[in-house]
Amino acid sequence: MAVPKRKTSKARKNKRRTHFKLSVPGMVRCSQCGEMKLSHRVCKHCGTYKGEEVVEV
Ligand SMILES: [Zn+2]
Repeated sequence: MAVPKRKTSKARKNKRRTHFKLSVPGMVRCSQCGEMKLSHRVCKHCGTYKGEEVVEV
């Protein structure tokens, strides 16, 4: 079995890991209730969009 000859240094490990990052798409804070929601979507928590338009209760 092939075994790495050298220990991967912290720098090398960290450089490799620059590529994997969390990608939470377009999350913004709801202006109505302050919950996290997807932007350009009706808020799941309070059912509003653009401040007051109540779409669901
Ligand atoms: Zn809300």
